[in-house]
Amino acid sequence: MLHEKPKRIVLKISGESFCPVSDRGISMDSVNHLASQIAKVAQGGVEVIVVMGGGNILRGAQFKAGNSTIQESTAHYMGMLATVLNGLALQDAIEALGQPTRLMSAIPMDTVAEPYIRRRATHHLERGRVVIIAGGTGSPFVTTDTAAAQRALELDADILLKATKVDGIYSADPEKDAEAVLFKNLTYDDVLRQNLRIMDSEAIAKCKEHGMPVMVFNFRKEGLLQRAAAGEMVGTLVTAEKA
Ligand code: UDP
Repeated sequence: MLHEKPKRIVLKISGESFCPVSDRGISMDSVNHLASQIAKVAQGGVEVIVVMGGGNILRGAQFKAGNSTIQESTAHYMGMLATVLNGLALQDAIEALGQPTRLMSAIPMDTVAEPYIRRRATHHLERGRVVIIAGGTGSPFVTTDTAAAQRALELDADILLKATKVDGIYSADPEKDAEAVLFKNLTYDDVLRQNLRIMDSEAIAKCKEHGMPVMVFNFRKEGLLQRAAAGEMVGTLVTAEKA
């Protein structure tokens, strides 16, 4: 046990966890798998904020790169809208398990989601609802990693958990380099200096500035989210100093 049992967590879910490896779009089997893990954590008494990614549908920078006519900001807004599609799918999947949720969007969209208002999000958390945040930060040119760092700070979370398809942060891409070493514990400066691309550097810098612990873990392994939410070390922990 390397950190205290958190009372409130932010879980950053990348869009890629919503579809089978090397696929795109939304597979409800993948969504249901995540939803059941999230519901168990919430029903165990931990307050859960999910910050939804959208990369399974569209990432602004990549979409712009393939299309000369689209403005980059438009592409980023499209990416933000993609996170709302994912958020809607996750909301129904979690509620089908009897766990109340609220979907909040940083881009006003009143007929499908509540507007994101910090005090309202806190109110929902105190009532045991899982708060799903879509629309990123509401501004282009950043990613949902930055949105996750921002929400973790403003909603006073104890830790930011980043769910990935690998076991944590490695010295190199473990899918391409058999020699890649998995780190158990890193400092924010290690991640920034070594340019370990597991989260965007803006998000790590924000966490560093305010001492928000980050843990990167494998969401595909059953039970790891529950263990991480219980304060166990299940991947790579990033803090100001090595534990
Ligand atoms: N995005 C944005 N502002 C934000 C969050 C996201 O412009 O605050 C856009 C950006 O283009 C990004 C896309 O939405 O690529 C989808 O988010 P992200 O790439 O973070 O999704 P993930 O990789 O986590 O699935």
